[in-house]
Amino acid sequence: MLSIVERCTDQKVKEIFMTQTSRSHTESVSSGLPSLQHKATGRPYPNKTRPLASGPRKFGYAIVGLGGYAVNQILPAFADCQHARLAALVSGSQEKMRRLGKQYGIEENHLYSYEDYDRIAEDPDIDAVYIILPNSLHAEFTIRAFEAGKHVLCEKPMAVTLEECQRMIAAGKKAGKELMIGYRCHFDPLTHKAMAIARGHDLGALRMLKTTISHMLDPADPLGQWRLNAKLSGGGSLMDIGIYGINASRYLLNDEPVEVRASFAPKEKSLFKEVESTILWTMFYRSGVISEGSSSYDACMTSHFSLIGEKAFLDLDPATSYWANKVSLRQSGYTQTWSASMFDIEKLNQFSAQLDYLPISIAKGKLETATAEEGMQDIRLIQAIYESARSGRAVATDWSR
Ligand code: NDP
Repeated sequence: MLSIVERCTDQKVKEIFMTQTSRSHTESVSSGLPSLQHKATGRPYPNKTRPLASGPRKFGYAIVGLGGYAVNQILPAFADCQHARLAALVSGSQEKMRRLGKQYGIEENHLYSYEDYDRIAEDPDIDAVYIILPNSLHAEFTIRAFEAGKHVLCEKPMAVTLEECQRMIAAGKKAGKELMIGYRCHFDPLTHKAMAIARGHDLGALRMLKTTISHMLDPADPLGQWRLNAKLSGGGSLMDIGIYGINASRYLLNDEPVEVRASFAPKEKSLFKEVESTILWTMFYRSGVISEGSSSYDACMTSHFSLIGEKAFLDLDPATSYWANKVSLRQSGYTQTWSASMFDIEKLNQFSAQLDYLPISIAKGKLETATAEEGMQDIRLIQAIYESARSGRAVATDWSR
């Protein structure tokens, strides 16, 4: 059988793998995803002052859009990457980009505005772009990146319409480049633990799933502004955070819904003129399982999934946090819990595992998770949920038949 390096079709990524140490190569490529470790190691706070994972042979990302998520989570995460490095920045703010460029050692010739973004085609240090822009800009910047000959990691939601998702996938195929979606939970060891339990025998036959995710959107916070604007966000809490519940229901149940029913909250604050704050949906699966999901921008912070089987139930609370997810398996009189303190910090870092996963997958010749098709299916389901909430009718989602 050919090795991962021999099978790799992208010459540049092949070189990256051939020149990295055999230890890091074996560790990451053999699993592809962070492995589960059940030892108590403590949980040191991430050391953001460690030197960046740099060097000419690592897979270079251009970060597009320097907002809250990019600056607070993604840029520091390069320090823990084995295969990826920060190569360029793209922003509408020259001042911010220069400041961050200095902080992360990115030279002026690797700083781009949105207008001169297409010049990344001539920058050999950039292998991929990571798009962290408001939702309705994802399609345009993905397609422009493919035209520039780069791979793409694009934040969730993949785009705001099904047609945009289809154009993004077609552009990637035409360019012969990969498109991955920023489903960071797929790189969290506690999510993996939950998936393993959901697919094992502990719960018995699965019956019901409940996903709840909410927080208060502060209208004074600049981060809130585009989220309230339908043209930029494509939708409200469902598009932004409810999507985690939809994606999780698919990976926890390992199934696709055949019908959805949904309702908006009957009363909304005047702030939510263009997008919904609160929405509730029910999904009916091929297997007979029912899932109920809800999301809100007008409630306290929650992130709670509960999967109920005939013998026991699984609780994820929080289910989608950046560093501290917790998984519990419960039966009457018995609870077993897995939490962040059982994992060492490198294994817990979803962000760097996600950044490393794209070059690993390119070398393997295939993305196995966080694919564009998966991102597109979530958008299709979101559209069906909106259609049901608007019409008051059930919507069939049995597209695969
Ligand atoms: P922010 O508002 O914090 O950042 C968005 C950035 O996009 C801005 O700072 C700006 O960067 C750039 N931008 C370009 N055009 C516009 C515009 N017209 N209006 C506003 N911003 C613009 O948003 P987030 O970082 O919270 O979210 C960005 C994306 O990341 C979203 O798709 C969101 O769903 C996703 N996300 C994912 C998370 C996850 O856990 N996977 C968590 C949070 C967000 P600049 O000033 O550099 O031009």
